[in-house]
Amino acid sequence: MRLDGKVAIVTGGGTGIGRAVAERFVADGALVCVAGRRLELLEETSAALPAGSVRTCAADVTEQAGVTAVVETALSFGRGLHVLVNNAGMDQPMAGVVDLDLELWNQVVKVNLTGPFLMMKAVIPHMVKTGGGSIINISSLAGLVNPPGLPAYCASKGGLISLTKQVAVDYGAHNVRCNVVCPGATRTEMFVAAMTPFAEDRGMTVDEVFRAFAQDTPLRRVSETREIGGLCSFLAGDDSSFLTAAVIPHDGGAVAVDVSGAAINRLAAQRGGMRSGRT
Ligand code: NAP
Repeated sequence: MRLDGKVAIVTGGGTGIGRAVAERFVADGALVCVAGRRLELLEETSAALPAGSVRTCAADVTEQAGVTAVVETALSFGRGLHVLVNNAGMDQPMAGVVDLDLELWNQVVKVNLTGPFLMMKAVIPHMVKTGGGSIINISSLAGLVNPPGLPAYCASKGGLISLTKQVAVDYGAHNVRCNVVCPGATRTEMFVAAMTPFAEDRGMTVDEVFRAFAQDTPLRRVSETREIGGLCSFLAGDDSSFLTAAVIPHDGGAVAVDVSGAAINRLAAQRGGMRSGRT
């Protein structure tokens, strides 16, 4: 199997994308340490997978003590440490910089950027000892383009893209690869929670908001978490052995859509006539 003999850490592995990544890694033969603050959710991930394949670590990855505990849990498998997925993250309520509290800015940057920094700082020496490794950072489409009202989220996810390339440059000589995945809209706890007040304020359901997101996306849908699991498995395994510093949108093609093209599609839909590219 693709990940046979590999030991992986997945932060935020108790929910959403992180849980799907852990599930896919185990299916592909890896031993996985899932980390997050809520132990009960990590235990749900573990209980759904074969005994012995998952170890849980309740920890805050923005604190050095938490990071150390996560790395020790992964090392307790006794097989080295080969893969790190920095998936833990947080969203922010919509607000421009003028209205954004400094405290919230600091918290978002701490979780989305400082956490991955601390994890990589702790894990890379072990990967070097093991002869190399693969780090996968989960950024966002919002690290590449700017939706309205998300300064802390976009800046932290953009920073994570830059940090990924820096790590790839600095540790490639030790066979440590570092790539970044930029998911577009994906149906998870975090995304539903972020969209609920927006939908309620407009008298819409969250599903209607998701359909609106999908309208201008070339593949005309939002992502499933298991699809990100598959991409991460490829990046973790040896099939991607010459891939590093890659910035990979996982967005159904959304990043390629320009604003005038989206406007033409909407006008055509409202006023009749064919939308571009449709038969
Ligand atoms: P989610 O279900 O809310 O996952 C976030 C995870 O991060 C939770 O398991 C949470 O667990 C963990 N976490 C948060 N702060 C932490 C901390 N300080 N220490 C340890 N763990 C922490 O949301 P998701 O949608 O799966 O998001 C996963 C990643 O994908 C995030 O980085 C997000 O920015 C990114 N992403 C998601 C989407 C989307 O549409 N869903 C799109 C683009 C990017 P605890 O609360 O128990 O700690």
